[in-house]
Amino acid sequence: KRKNQPSAEELIAGILAQDKVALSRAITLVESTNIEHLAKANEIINGCLPHANQSIRIGITGVPGVGKSTFIEAFGKYLTSIGKKVAVLAVDPSSTISHGSILGDKTRMEELVKDENAFIRPSASGETLGGVARKTRETIILCEACGFDTIIIETVGVGQSETAVHSMVDFFLLLKISGAGDELQGIKRGIMEMADTIVINKADGDNVAKAKLAKTEFNRALHLFPAKSSGWIPNVTTCSAFEKTGIDNVWKIIADYFELVKSNNYFEEKRQNQNQFWMMETINEQLKSHFYTHPEISSLLEENKKAVQSNEISPFAAAMNLLEKYFK
Ligand code: GDP
Repeated sequence: KRKNQPSAEELIAGILAQDKVALSRAITLVESTNIEHLAKANEIINGCLPHANQSIRIGITGVPGVGKSTFIEAFGKYLTSIGKKVAVLAVDPSSTISHGSILGDKTRMEELVKDENAFIRPSASGETLGGVARKTRETIILCEACGFDTIIIETVGVGQSETAVHSMVDFFLLLKISGAGDELQGIKRGIMEMADTIVINKADGDNVAKAKLAKTEFNRALHLFPAKSSGWIPNVTTCSAFEKTGIDNVWKIIADYFELVKSNNYFEEKRQNQNQFWMMETINEQLKSHFYTHPEISSLLEENKKAVQSNEISPFAAAMNLLEKYFK
C-alpha cells in the first residue's frame, strides 16, 4: 500500500473543508470496483451524509446536439455569478454500453471548469445503468457535503437514463430546439411528461420566431398531461445558450418551483420517496446479480431453459424449482 493515500477521516475532513481535491479523490473511491475502495467509500459517505441534502438537484436532458453542454456552461456561470456553488455530474448510458460517450468531454465547458465555485465530473463508467446511477447518487451526497448547493445532473434523452436521473433530482428540465419534430429529437412522450419545464434552446438569429412558435406548441402539449402531484404547472421558455439570453429566466422558473414545493412539503416527501426507491432498487439489483452469478444456479438455469423450450417442464415450475434451490 502506498503511504500517501489519505485515510477516510482525512478525506471527510477535506470534503467538509470544501476541498475539491479531496472531493475528487473520494468520488474516485466511490467509482472504484475494488472491494477495499468501496469499504472506504462507504465510510466517507456515512461521514458526509449528515452534512448532505442541503441543495437543490436539477436534472437536464435533451438529445445530442440540442446544446446541453453549452447551456450548462452558460447556466452554471449565471448561477455562480449570483453566489451559488454548482456541481455538474453526468449519467451517460453510452459510456456504460460502448465505453464511448455521447455526452462527451466536460472540458468543453471551458469557462465553468475554471470557475472556483464550480465542480465538473464526467460520467462514471460501469457495467449497468443501475451501477452508474448508484455511483451518481453517492457522488451527489459527497458534493453536497463539500458545500455545493446546486447539483446539475446531465443525461441524454434517448434511453432509460432519464428515468434514473428523474428519480434522483428535484427538478427535471428538458432542453429542446425548435423546428425538429419530436421523432427527430428522439424524445419520447414519457420524457415530456417527466419535465417540470421545457427550455427551447438556440432562440437566436433566424431562429427566434420559430422558437416562439415552438413555445406555444409545447405549452399546448403540456396542458394535455395530467396535473403533477407537486402542484407545479410545467411551462415552456426559450433561451440562447450561445448568446446567454433567457438564462436568468430559466433560473427564475426553477426558483419559483422550489419556493412552491418547499412550502407545500412536496420537496421533502419526494426526497424521502427517492431514498426508499433507491434502497429497493439496490436490493433488487443485488439479489438479481447474486442469483444469476451463483455457480450452481447458472448451470441449472441453462438446463432449465432447454427443458422449457422443449415443453418438458412449464416455465412457472422451472422458475420455482430454481428459486427453491437458490433459497434453500
Ligand atoms: P449537446 O450535445 O447537447 O451537449 O450540445 P452542445 O452543447 O455540444 O451543442 C451542439 C452544437 O449546438 C454546438 O455546435 C453549439 O455551438 C451549438 N449551440 C449550442 N447552444 C446554442 C445556441 O443557443 N444557439 C446556437 N445558435 N447554437 C448553439
